[in-house]
Formats: sequence, structure tokens, C-alpha cells
Amino acid sequence: MERSSSFLSVKKKVGNVSTRRIVVTSGKGGVGKTTTTANLGAALAKRGHRVVLVDADIGLRNLDLVLGLEKRIVFDIVEVAEGRCQLRQALIKDKRFESLAILPAAQTREKEAITAEQFAKVIAGLDEFADFVLIDCPAGIETGFRNAVAGAKEALVVTTPEVSAIRDADRVIGKLLEVPMPISLVINRLRPEMVRSGDMLAVEDVCEVLNATLVGVIPDDEEIIDTTNRGEPIVLDESNRLRTIYDKIARRLEGEDIPITSFEKPTFFKRLIGAITTG
Ligand code: ADP
Ligand code: MG
Repeated sequence: MERSSSFLSVKKKVGNVSTRRIVVTSGKGGVGKTTTTANLGAALAKRGHRVVLVDADIGLRNLDLVLGLEKRIVFDIVEVAEGRCQLRQALIKDKRFESLAILPAAQTREKEAITAEQFAKVIAGLDEFADFVLIDCPAGIETGFRNAVAGAKEALVVTTPEVSAIRDADRVIGKLLEVPMPISLVINRLRPEMVRSGDMLAVEDVCEVLNATLVGVIPDDEEIIDTTNRGEPIVLDESNRLRTIYDKIARRLEGEDIPITSFEKPTFFKRLIGAITTG
């Protein structure tokens, strides 16, 4: 008989109708979808949820690397879809968390190796194992995007405060509204000093353009690049200020009403210093 890991046996519920299936998407590449998926997933797991992160980027998988789990991959989502292995065999449990696992993408296959119907069926199978399923979507609005969206019931759109990223996010939001599904928004890589100097759009400006509910603003921070390169989710570092930011996004997704920290507005002290230095 197959021995199930603690993850798969934790609070096992069959046909969990309340499982949140969220596609993390953006249109533009390189804005932070994978980083957000990994860190938000870890934050949700730390809060006691059973979380499965799905890498929908067939042929270009990297969610496994960001979480440092690449050496443990045996099966992938395409093999599950083709019936070559059981869904539970393809899940890789993250040993640092009680209840976090990833379902890897295939590395050596084409995007067309899985259809939207197959993708959605595999994702539906995860309801048994997860309270939250976060689907890390590839860039663009083609096959990979359509597959990832087919598996989801809601979306988290990630954008940076740059015109090109916002334009692509707007396009993606238009597609998601056609489905339709609820859409949350994360603004990533905000640089308050650039907002203040007028070289970057402020949070309010981005929100004015995009038809989605803001659930988080993540600053641009070298530390994110470092932890990503080491394969370590930020929430593991108790003293890290970014940990609180991902934790708050997790809580907002749970439905908690927490005000967004406004990095882009000068604080009282900065205004005071500004007034003094400008005389
Ligand atoms: P995507 O999945 O949208 O292509 P990634 O999550 O891979 O984007 O991020 C692209 C790059 O940006 C990575 O090198 C990542 O470490 C970096 N990055 C993501 N978010 C931040 C941030 N808030 N601050 C600094 N660097 C970031
Ligand atoms: Mg990515």
C-alpha cells in the first residue's frame, strides 16, 4: 500500500468545495508573479492553510527553483494529465512548512502538451489536498494563460508601477472580466523615492487605471532577489520587514480588512524634514 506523507494526510477532506483556486497572472513577464506565488503561498501555509502552488509555465518552470525544491521533482503536471502518475505522486512537499506543496510544470514539453480541459481537471483534483491553490501563470495571454485561467475561480493580478506592465495588466483584467471572476491586485517593486520624484506612478494612479481590488503593495527590495536566489521564502525570516507584507496580503485574501500601507506618501517626518531643508 502506498504510504501517504503527513501533508497528504493532514485534515484530508474529499471534494473540498471551499478550495480557493487563484491564478496569479500579469500579462507582462518579469513583474513578480513567481516571486509573489512562492512567498504568498508560504505565508498562507504559515497561517495554517493547506496550500498547493502550481507551476503553469510549461517548458519554462521556475517556481521549484524559487522555493529550492528543484532536486526533488520526479513527476510533473503534464504526466498527471496524461495519466502517467497519480496527482499525489507529483506533489512535492516543502519540508520547511507543515502544509505547503508544489505541482511542477514539465520542463521539456511544449505548452500545447496540456489542454485547458486537462489542466482544469488536474487543478480540480487538488481540492482534496488544499485550501488554497495558487496557479503561477506564464507571461502573455496565449495557451499557457488560457490553461491557467481555466483552472481558476479567481485571479490575483501582479503589476509593477510602470506603464508597459500596467497596460498588459489592464489587457489581462479585461480577459478575466469576460470569464468572469473576482480580481485582486498586487503592485510589486514600488520605489517610494521614485514616486516622490515623479519618476514612478503612485499606487493611487495604478488603482485608478486597473479595475481590480488592491490587496497589497510590495516595495522593490534587493533582499527579495537574494532570498529568491537562495530558494528561501521570506516568511521564514521572522525579522524580515517583507514578511509582514506577504502576511498581510495572505490575511486580506482570507477576507480580513487591513488598510494598505502607503509607502508612496511622504510621512509626517519626511514632510517636516523636506520643509526644513527647503527652508
Ligand atoms: P515573473 O514570474 O512575473 O516573470 P519573477 O517573480 O520571476 O517574475 O520576478 C522577476 C525578477 O524580479 C526576479 O529576479 C525577482 O527576484 C525580482 N523581483 C520580484 N519581486 C521583486 C521585488 N519586490 N523587489 C525586487 N526584486 C523583485
Ligand atoms: Mg514566472
